[in-house]
Amino acid sequence: MKRESVARANLRLRRELGRLHGMLDEQHAKPHDTGLAPSCARGCNACCRQIVVAEYAEAEYIVARNPEAIRRALPKLREHAAILRAAPSELADSDHGAREYWRLNLPCALLDERGECSVYADRPIACRTWFVADDPARCASEEPQSVRVLDYGTRHAGPDALLRLVAGARRPIPGGGLPVMWGALPQLLMHVIDGRGPADDGDGVRDRGRIDLKPSA
Ligand code: SF4
Repeated sequence: MKRESVARANLRLRRELGRLHGMLDEQHAKPHDTGLAPSCARGCNACCRQIVVAEYAEAEYIVARNPEAIRRALPKLREHAAILRAAPSELADSDHGAREYWRLNLPCALLDERGECSVYADRPIACRTWFVADDPARCASEEPQSVRVLDYGTRHAGPDALLRLVAGARRPIPGGGLPVMWGALPQLLMHVIDGRGPADDGDGVRDRGRIDLKPSA
């Protein structure tokens, strides 16, 4: 793909990702089926040391729209990316790995000096669709798997919609499939900052490869 058409595709993808965020936020503003209200709110960081798995487009979106926050986070992002690179590959790849990461007690590199998410409006879908109906103190002290999670139907629908956007914007791999790149957020952000694209195999970034999209339901 020529440089210009890559830039156009990225721009379109960013616009559509912004629209998808808006749709998810609308869905999350509705009452939950259980009648329970989420305890999650802007400014809470109780669970912001979970591993965040995102797609390359989300990292690119965050970097493009939050240059100052990224500049401030850079030393920590480098540090966390190096920890992940040196860790066993299943760290970003399984429930066991997620628990191990949680035990490392690494507050997200994107938290600002007040302890708030510095890219909140543009945070990844994994963060946007994670809601709990529990005391934030439990989110901070217990493993994420043990708190009461509220799903608005978006925990799977959000990533599926993201994949459809990627499908519309990136060139398919000859022979089928799409170049998607899922990875742990610090590594993906460093991948973008270093100027590497989604089809560029970076060391330590997992799951780059082919996927076959099911038609949307
Ligand atoms: S991106 Fe923001 S919401 Fe997500 S873990 Fe990091 S600080 Fe928390």
